[in-house]
Amino acid sequence: MTVAAISTPPAVGGIALIRISGENSISIAQKLFKPFGSCDVSKMAGHTCAYGRIVAGGEQLDDALLTVFRAPKSYTGEDVVEISCHGGIYVSRRILREVIALGAEPAGPGEFTKRAFLNGKISLTQAEAVADIIAAEGENALISANLMRDGELFRRAKVISQKLIEILSSLAAWTDYPDEDIPQAEPAKIINTLLQCERDLNKLISDYDSGLVFREGISCAIVGRPNVGKSTLMNTLLGYERSIVNSSAGTTRDVVEERLRLGDVILKIADTAGIRDADNEVERIGVKLAERAISRAQLIFAVFDGSEELSDEDLKILKKTEGRRRIIIINKGDLPQKINKEYFNDEYILEVEAKSGTGTEKIRSAVYEMFKLDGFANTHEVFANERQKLCCDTALKHIREAIDALSSGETLDAVTVCIDSAADAILTLSGEKVTNAVVDDVFKRFCVGE
Ligand code: GDP
Repeated sequence: MTVAAISTPPAVGGIALIRISGENSISIAQKLFKPFGSCDVSKMAGHTCAYGRIVAGGEQLDDALLTVFRAPKSYTGEDVVEISCHGGIYVSRRILREVIALGAEPAGPGEFTKRAFLNGKISLTQAEAVADIIAAEGENALISANLMRDGELFRRAKVISQKLIEILSSLAAWTDYPDEDIPQAEPAKIINTLLQCERDLNKLISDYDSGLVFREGISCAIVGRPNVGKSTLMNTLLGYERSIVNSSAGTTRDVVEERLRLGDVILKIADTAGIRDADNEVERIGVKLAERAISRAQLIFAVFDGSEELSDEDLKILKKTEGRRRIIIINKGDLPQKINKEYFNDEYILEVEAKSGTGTEKIRSAVYEMFKLDGFANTHEVFANERQKLCCDTALKHIREAIDALSSGETLDAVTVCIDSAADAILTLSGEKVTNAVVDDVFKRFCVGE
């Protein structure tokens, strides 16, 4: 089946790209694209371009560049044609409609990358990396995704699966051919190899949490009574890093989510109204939303005014955020200090001057320390995604079962079952042995056109 989609975002831009993949892609392009000059589309070699005009039913739609990739040397492994036309939403959709009228099917989400996987061009982890590269908002997320794109995670998984498969074949040889002179598999040696696999898997799993932070950011809430300097702090942080990624209004004007970059990490900050006893309905709704933002946040910045004594409202905020991952920020350090710090026994108490920005760099260090990101800031690690992490968890569980079974002298059959399940989980991780349901699930999170 030949499929087509617009691969560029549905927005006005300089260029839009319509991608067609499948056995009929070149013949469809030939019907639609009239080259300027003597080029014959059906005879174009792979990795070549032609300049011409898109014409449908005698109507000239646009001038465009046609790029041809011939199977198997293309992204999907099939014949691929890319039409680069002018980046208007209407014109690109119109061309896509013509391509579909000529027999192509609209591509589903991630269809091109899925085909690349199914045709053996890339591993499943490499395919997932494509989605991660597109989604990456920070440097580390991008580096990690690119490493995975280069097959790093696949290679790591392969090392583990090979070890497991070697154990399995030695066990099988010994049990299947008892008459042959095959030395009995040595439990101690097998345990050693399994312990190595366990270490490798543990590393992948422990990197997962840090990876998640780099990939998806940390959701934060800034809380504090009015006038302690929450907005000033947020503006200073935004200005200080000069990297507003995106800002979107929340469902009501009382909670606004800003995304700002702190070092290599994105903080998704809900600037919430203070927690106070609201006396009117609108305020009550605001307070409810603020409480919800707090309950969802992975990190809370609790802001206090250092130039004033702690009020009942401050104490209420302290109590409401007790036991949560929080950073106490004592603001207005430039003014004479009246705050009673004995109320705080947190690990992270930062004194800052939000207005001038003095001391705000301590916030980055605290966040990095809290989320154990320092080790990752400069190393180039691959971070597993949720699916991959679950495969690692499953493999680890079965490897531990196998180690227990071997140490307690259970039959080699029982051990084989455990190692077999562990190997299965790793092969599912790499995509070498994977069900359609898993493949569909992976590509569901892709965009159309990827
Ligand atoms: P919010 O209600 O908590 O968002 O507080 P704002 O950010 O609106 O700040 C309240 C007032 O405190 C404003 O007049 C700010 O200029 C002032 N303010 C904020 N940070 C500082 C600071 O570090 N030092 C001093 N002296 N004033 C500050």
